[in-house]
Amino acid sequence: MKKTVFNTRILSAEAVKEAADWLKAGELVAFPTETVYGLGANALDAAAVAKIFAAKGRPADNPLIVHVANPAAAEPLARLGPLACQLMDTFWPGPLTLVLPRQKLVPDIVSAGLPTLALRMPRHPLALALLNECGLPLAAPSANLSGRPSPTLPGHVFEDLAGQIALILDGGPVEIGLESTVLDLSGKQPVLLRPGAVTRSQLQPFCGEILLPDDRHQERPAAPGMKYSHYAPKAQVLLVKGADDLRQEWQKNQKEGCSPLFILSQESLEKLPELPGEQVLLAWPAHNMEFFANKLFSCFRQADKLGAKAIIVETVPETGLGRAIMNRLRKAGGIV
Ligand code: AMP
Ligand code: MG
Repeated sequence: MKKTVFNTRILSAEAVKEAADWLKAGELVAFPTETVYGLGANALDAAAVAKIFAAKGRPADNPLIVHVANPAAAEPLARLGPLACQLMDTFWPGPLTLVLPRQKLVPDIVSAGLPTLALRMPRHPLALALLNECGLPLAAPSANLSGRPSPTLPGHVFEDLAGQIALILDGGPVEIGLESTVLDLSGKQPVLLRPGAVTRSQLQPFCGEILLPDDRHQERPAAPGMKYSHYAPKAQVLLVKGADDLRQEWQKNQKEGCSPLFILSQESLEKLPELPGEQVLLAWPAHNMEFFANKLFSCFRQADKLGAKAIIVETVPETGLGRAIMNRLRKAGGIV
C-alpha cells in the first residue's frame, strides 16, 4: 500500500469541521483534551484505527482508549453496569477512563484483542466539539511517537507526527498534562490501572476497595498494554527527596564530570542558591502539584533536545495528583 505523506498543519478552532471530515474519511487527526493531545481515528473503522498504530509505531498489543461525546454514546460500545453509570454521572466529562466489557460493534484492533474496552468522555471544549461534529466514537491514544513523552502542546504533536497525520487541532497548552486515570471495572473488584487527575480517594466513596495492578496479578494477568513504560528519556532520571539529597546527588554527578538538569520545588531551589539557572528545567511553586504535572512532559522533551545525560528530580508525596506524578517519574526512570 502506498504511504500518504500529509502536509500536516496546526489549525485553530474553526477547523473543527475540516477535522471531522478527515475523521469520517478514515484519516487521523490530533486534538487537544484536558489531559494530553490525542491522536484520533474513527473507532468503528478497523483500517482507520490501524493507521494510529502505524503512525505512532505503537505495539499492536497496547489497547487504545475510545473517546465519546456523551455517556449515551458509550452504551452501544460496552456493557455499562450500575457502578460505571454512577462514575460516568459523577466524573464525566473528565479525566477518568473506565475499562468495561466490550460490545461486538467495536473492532478487535481497538482493544488489542482484549474482551474489554477503555472509554472516556473528555471535557476539553474542542474535543467535545470535534466528537459532536463527526458523530463518531474516536479511538485516541496520546498523539506522540511510541516511547516519547505524551504531548502537552500542539508543537509536540508536530515534532512527532508531521507528515503522518491529516491535521492538528490547536487548543494551546493542555489543562492537566498527565494522561487520564484508568479504572478497570471488568473484574470482580475495581482496579486502578493508571493513576491520574481523578484520584483514588475521589473514587473510593463509589467503589469501596480499589485494587492496584500488583494486587490483581494473582487474580489474572495485567492488561498487555501495562507492560510498556510510557517514556524513558535518553537521560538517566534520578529521583531524590529534599534539598540535602539533591545537593549530594549533584555533587556526585559533578565528580563524575556530569552537569545534570534539575526538576525541583522552588522551596528546594532557594536552599541551593549555587545551582546555575541554566541547569534548572523546572522549579514548581510550593505544593502546586498541578503546575508540576502540567510542565513535566515538556521538561522531558526539552531535556532530550539539550542532550542531557541526567535529570535530578525531586520527589513529591504520593497523595492526590502526587501519585500520578510519581507514577510517570518512575516510568521515566525505568523503575516500573
Ligand atoms: P494512552 O492512550 O497512550 O494513554 O494509553 C492507553 C492505556 O490505557 C494503555 O496503555 C492501557 O494501559 C490502558 N487501556 C486501554 N484499553 C485497555 C483495556 N481494554 N484494558 C486495560 N487497559 C487498557
Ligand atoms: Mg500514550
